[in-house]
Amino acid sequence: MMYEGKSKRVYVKNSNTLIMEFKDTVTALDGARIAEAPGKGILNAALTAYFFDMLKKEGIENHFMDYDGCRVITVKKLNMVPIEVIVRNYAYGSLIKRLPLFKPLTKLTTPLVEFHYKSDELHDPLILPEDVVNSGLMSLDEVKYVILTSLRVNEVLTRRLSECGLRLIDFKLEYGRDLNNKLVLADEISGDTIRVLDSDGRHLDKELFRRGGGVDDLIKAYALLAQRLGVNVTV
Ligand code: 5GP
Repeated sequence: MMYEGKSKRVYVKNSNTLIMEFKDTVTALDGARIAEAPGKGILNAALTAYFFDMLKKEGIENHFMDYDGCRVITVKKLNMVPIEVIVRNYAYGSLIKRLPLFKPLTKLTTPLVEFHYKSDELHDPLILPEDVVNSGLMSLDEVKYVILTSLRVNEVLTRRLSECGLRLIDFKLEYGRDLNNKLVLADEISGDTIRVLDSDGRHLDKELFRRGGGVDDLIKAYALLAQRLGVNVTV
């Protein structure tokens, strides 16, 4: 095992390939709230495989290679950049916290791309694109590539979810560097990392758990998201 995080274990397969195992553990509030949600690992692995495969078919390169049909995906080995890229279509969550002028779920005039420095201790603070460049985390061209790629991901996800009658509020992406130092889209895209509403305004994501809800409702919401997308997964 190379690394164990809050929701995944990562194993080295060979010099170019990693095995990513999705755990049933669910956390919120930067790890302050933690619980076991049996079935979450399988649901998140299946959804991540589904979304990354779809993005690949749309010509958006990413780390996904293979899915074992259970809780494990095989991915390209990358050196992760400690930045969370958040794309927003509607005002929600930390955007409203930092700028309470927005009514929740106000549609943004254009999608917003934010950079956050990954640090539980600092609560993943919002940083400027200039901070990303000046700190040496990415070059200016890389920042431009990440913004354009993240917006393309937003287009693909928004279109697919809307075909299923679902509304994509926001989501988080991460990027890493391959052996040639090239940035590649990575990590996961699942109920843990997106906010999605159905036509009745119900969350098919982690939001209810963040607000104190139980793990049963979380699993139901994730399973419903998979079902609506036609992702075949038995929990
Ligand atoms: P917010 O910044 O409003 O809390 O989150 C915006 C979006 O990014 C949400 O869809 C949320 O799920 C995702 N997100 C933000 N921070 C994290 C994080 O630390 N971990 C995960 N899994 N998702 C995050």
